[in-house]
Amino acid sequence: MEYDELDGPEGVPVRVPTSDDYRTCSECGGDCYPDPSITVEGQGARIAFVCSEHGVQSVVDPFEEQR
Ligand SMILES: [Zn+2]
Repeated sequence: MEYDELDGPEGVPVRVPTSDDYRTCSECGGDCYPDPSITVEGQGARIAFVCSEHGVQSVVDPFEEQR
């Protein structure tokens, strides 16, 4: 899978899939925005993609390949 590199929290670059599926709202088809302030308890560094109208759409694990 290919990744884009983004600036993560604390200046650490994170990678996300280049596919747009993870950041498209399933309800309105709109573009979601990454919100690194949303964390999944016990899951470590993940980034949630949030639609401004419909809430969290997906959670990406940018360090998946490093485990
Ligand atoms: Zn939406």
